[in-house]
Amino acid sequence: MKLGNLEFHILTDGELRLDGGAMFGVVPKLLWEKRMPADERNRILLGMNCLLIRAGAELILVETGVGDKWNARMKDMYGVGVGERLPEQLAAHGVKPADITMVVNTHLHFDHCGWNTHVLDGRAMPFFPNATYVVQRGELEHALNPTERDRASYLAENFQAVSDAGKWRLLDGDAIIAPGVEVARAPGHNADMQCVLLRSGGETAILFADLVPTTAHLAAPWIMSYDLYPLTTLENKKKWIPRAAEEGWLALFGHDPQISAARLREEKGRYMAEPVRMD
Ligand SMILES: [Zn+2]
Repeated sequence: MKLGNLEFHILTDGELRLDGGAMFGVVPKLLWEKRMPADERNRILLGMNCLLIRAGAELILVETGVGDKWNARMKDMYGVGVGERLPEQLAAHGVKPADITMVVNTHLHFDHCGWNTHVLDGRAMPFFPNATYVVQRGELEHALNPTERDRASYLAENFQAVSDAGKWRLLDGDAIIAPGVEVARAPGHNADMQCVLLRSGGETAILFADLVPTTAHLAAPWIMSYDLYPLTTLENKKKWIPRAAEEGWLALFGHDPQISAARLREEKGRYMAEPVRMD
């Protein structure tokens, strides 16, 4: 996929299954199950889409999925480890972990930073040995000291080893991190999640991350129960979704199992996704 001078690919780390009720907040199941059917354990199928971007001298990986530091009970609960995984996807693009120069985590929930590290000789180590890892400073601070409500979302083995290796580049708000690659802090899901914008040759793409995890979440009130600040999510959705539609941006969805990229169209105040094929 080309966007001006930027070349990027959408990769996956396989499947993830989360409780459908939690994924749609106050929306009744009668409505959401028409968009995303639940399995016998009330879970919906999600993807974990990552971006591989070539920008000048940088080879950037945005999001690193769930990784492989999972026991059987957790694997079963979240339905992870199924389908094509990130290391094989990178290899299929001729990329070795050592080739990645920058890893960007939109935030540090376990489904966004799993391959940040892997276990070597019984110790978690950075999986991308030559990469600088980019996240908002406030998100790392929160990940190290989460609340009772969200601590199940943070697994220290995904980020502690990055700290120990001194590999973080911590950001305080919006930033241009490489030619044509920007991050924009978009709180709501938590205090310091960031979206990623690609801009080149007059074109823009946005990875909404967990602000709009799937195309079913384009409707303003379809907000996850996981969000710590749902009214801030609402505010940020109303800021970014209309803009992406009006300006013809390519919208990228991190958790949509089918539609990873789309153009957005507004019809009587509702936003629809028109899928864009990425190959
Ligand atoms: Zn997520």
